[in-house]
Amino acid sequence: MFLYGRGHWVSPSCNFLAVKVRINFDNTYARLPERFYARLAPASLSVPKLIRVNRGLAESLSISRDWLESEEGVAMLSGNQAPEGAEPIAQAYAGHQFGGFVPQLGDGRALLLGEIFDTKGDRFDLQLKGSGRTPFSRQGDGKSALGPVIREYIVSEAMAALGVPTTRALAAVASGETVLRAEGSLPGGVFTRIAASHIRVGTFQYYYARNDLEGTRLLADYVIARHYAEAADSSNPYRTLIGSVVKAQADLIAQWMSLGFIHGVMNTDNIAVSGETIDYGPCAFMDAFHPQCVFSSIDRDARYAWGNQPDIGLWNLTRFAETLLPLLSEDAEEAKSLAESALSQFSDRFADQYIGRFRTKLGLPSSAPVTLIQDTLDLLASEKIDFTLFFRRLTQVAGGDSHQDLSVLFSEEEVFEKWFSNWRKEADPGNRCSEMRLANPILIPRNHRIEQAIQAAYRGDYSLFHRLVDALANPFDEQTEYEDLESPPLPEEVVHETFCGT
Ligand code: AMP
Ligand code: MG
Repeated sequence: MFLYGRGHWVSPSCNFLAVKVRINFDNTYARLPERFYARLAPASLSVPKLIRVNRGLAESLSISRDWLESEEGVAMLSGNQAPEGAEPIAQAYAGHQFGGFVPQLGDGRALLLGEIFDTKGDRFDLQLKGSGRTPFSRQGDGKSALGPVIREYIVSEAMAALGVPTTRALAAVASGETVLRAEGSLPGGVFTRIAASHIRVGTFQYYYARNDLEGTRLLADYVIARHYAEAADSSNPYRTLIGSVVKAQADLIAQWMSLGFIHGVMNTDNIAVSGETIDYGPCAFMDAFHPQCVFSSIDRDARYAWGNQPDIGLWNLTRFAETLLPLLSEDAEEAKSLAESALSQFSDRFADQYIGRFRTKLGLPSSAPVTLIQDTLDLLASEKIDFTLFFRRLTQVAGGDSHQDLSVLFSEEEVFEKWFSNWRKEADPGNRCSEMRLANPILIPRNHRIEQAIQAAYRGDYSLFHRLVDALANPFDEQTEYEDLESPPLPEEVVHETFCGT
């Protein structure tokens, strides 16, 4: 594939003062036609201050962490200076936001510096978020408040440690500027994100909305080459592409749900075709279980509630498939039936993954009735039991502990006994305890802790943020020094809404 030759491509002369090649860029997206993005330089920030570099991730990307933490590194991480080999672009995309189509969104506060490789040779985007205005900024300032930077860092790294496909946090910087938001004037921040790519369902919709068939084809071929190479050799690569994206999204959403995660804003512009979780805005892990749980301050109709995520996932995939119809077949009827056959795989795949994950969480062999999963979730909802704590304590029971700590989560002993005897009859805790330990985390990034870390960061104190990130790096391990982070919020600590803060 011509796109993927490494190192043969020479970047055009850059405006930036380059000192030494620190990162090996190979910017394939910037080689796509100019209508796919806007080229631009990062804007200068007053006095940026590094908050954290993800040293492990830097190492896996062969980026010197000492350099990242140096003045020159911080100049890159804050968007003051693009490093040698970078070709900053803001990507074009469209999207359905809460069901309504917006033909042009695009990176309004993000800047793709370029593509880099990890030590295994896999390609990743290196992107800044909050580094300033772009041609896609519309009325926005192109900046980010520090709160969303702190939230995305904590949650995306926690997700990675939980084994969920996700974009990663390479660094967080305090911009030294203030930004104006609904809450008032807030300290600003810049987030550096690593992603398999930033191509969204909305990126496809951008070309579809413009009847730009050539653009759609180029993008589809690019995605196949970059993410789903196996599709290239199939009899209908675009049909195979839809099938692969369907599978990736079904798996991802099942995994989110098994952890009590609510994405919060599953607009088509926030759905990565790579299958990674992307754009952590007003997202949250549930405390007390409820299938209609939402946190997002902008999701007034609970469109993106925990239990709605598979339906929305399929709706988004249908929007994706729609954009590829003209490529599937010249015969419109045949194209439609090919798309439908790919989409029809979603339900079974999702159910399979969802049931499999909950079976593991509950220590159930395949012979146990699947209804026990739903019965358990119904009970958790009616008893308002903390989702993570329930599965954690059940795992302890499976490991041989008494059921005392589990039973106190229920309102009445009798309610617990009824469920517990049923579970004991069906489950196979002795043989499944180690699997349960890997499916039921001890630590999740609880919303009230994130909120406390954000508020402290606004006061210039990053200790809570660092402590959360350190603790969440090992979510399945017993870590006595972080035991306090296991507890659900006290009534006065409960966070009812999370904000985009953009
Ligand atoms: P998101 O909240 O990430 O889903 O963003 C939705 C759209 O709004 C995207 O096109 C963003 O680039 C744009 N956007 C969000 N915040 C800002 C901002 N502060 N300045 C400019 N554009 C923004
Ligand atoms: Mg977004």
